[in-house]
Amino acid sequence: MYDVAIIGAGPAGASAAIFCAKAGKRTLVIDNDLSITRRAWIENHYGVPQISGPDLVETGRQQAKKFGAELVKAEVTNVTRGADGLQVETDQGTYTARHVIIATGVYTDLAEKIGLRTKPGTEPRIKTIVEVDSQGRTNIDGVWAAGTIAGVSVHTIITAGDGAKVAVNVISELNGERYVDHDVYKPFT
Ligand SMILES: Cc1cc2nc3c(=O)[nH]c(=O)nc-3n(C[C@H](O)[C@H](O)[C@H](O)COP(=O)(O)OP(=O)(O)OC[C@H]3O[C@@H](n4cnc5c(N)ncnc54)[C@H](O)[C@@H]3O)c2cc1C
Repeated sequence: MYDVAIIGAGPAGASAAIFCAKAGKRTLVIDNDLSITRRAWIENHYGVPQISGPDLVETGRQQAKKFGAELVKAEVTNVTRGADGLQVETDQGTYTARHVIIATGVYTDLAEKIGLRTKPGTEPRIKTIVEVDSQGRTNIDGVWAAGTIAGVSVHTIITAGDGAKVAVNVISELNGERYVDHDVYKPFT
């Protein structure tokens, strides 16, 4: 049983995984390697003067792994509610999790298949998005959405930020109190 299963390892999904794993949550990330971020050259990501999309995606995955997140290369085909949690079906097997974060970018087929309420996108070239509340909750209990698929502006700093926001909300729900993840710079400890 995972605390959180994250579908998608682009900026939104990997950022959520970094927070969840660093909070000590048993975190699974499932990705089928079709991130549109891999086509980007990025010079507007605060704190990172310039980076290629592939390097940003790889760095995010390594950060998540560093804190114990498990990354699986697979296609998620369905998410259903089972007796002991959410069943995440993939072409490589089925996993069980308490919470699921959908961070599948421009790909909405899974969201529509599992019955998530969707609506027309408002960002350029984004046709459909998943309806979420301000916390990132969808119409299915325990299923959250973050990043491009949740309708935020399609920029790495924003999709990564949204992934982190939703992760903090999921961690806070699991902990039963608001979560904060602050490390202190050595000279100030
Ligand atoms: C050509 C181009 C240039 C860009 N330039 C910039 C730029 O200069 N600055 C900037 O800030 N942003 C730029 N962007 C936007 C940015 O790269 C991303 O689009 C954005 O950050 C998307 O992040 P995401 O995590 O929501 O989606 P993605 O990065 O697309 O990640 C979604 C992940 O979900 C996975 N997935 C989907 N469905 C499934 C499934 N069923 N099972 C398993 N895995 C699944 C996909 O394989 C993918 O890895 C650019 C984008 C493009 C295309």
